[in-house]
Amino acid sequence: MKKGTFTSVWDGGDEVTSTAELNEETGEVIAESVDVEDLDLEYLEREYFTDEEENEFRICPTSHSYIMTNKMFYGIGHTYEEREVCSDPDCESNE
Ligand SMILES: [Zn+2]
Repeated sequence: MKKGTFTSVWDGGDEVTSTAELNEETGEVIAESVDVEDLDLEYLEREYFTDEEENEFRICPTSHSYIMTNKMFYGIGHTYEEREVCSDPDCESNE
């Protein structure tokens, strides 16, 4: 497990962070629950995980708990195409 920080960015620029861990084998991020009730948060802009070396991993906007990863796909005419997909093979965003 990789220790780090889970950050969610809301419209208006509010950022909520919490301690989190990244499972490097599955890509799952487990964050401590954050109490956001007192904040005026409406629209979630993006979420990311930052490890202790300041590397940033974008978190899937559909499942909210897995990082996005780049995968190569066969394109038209024997070319390769790199696409960003969710680490969770069961995620709806991968369909
Ligand atoms: Zn996902």
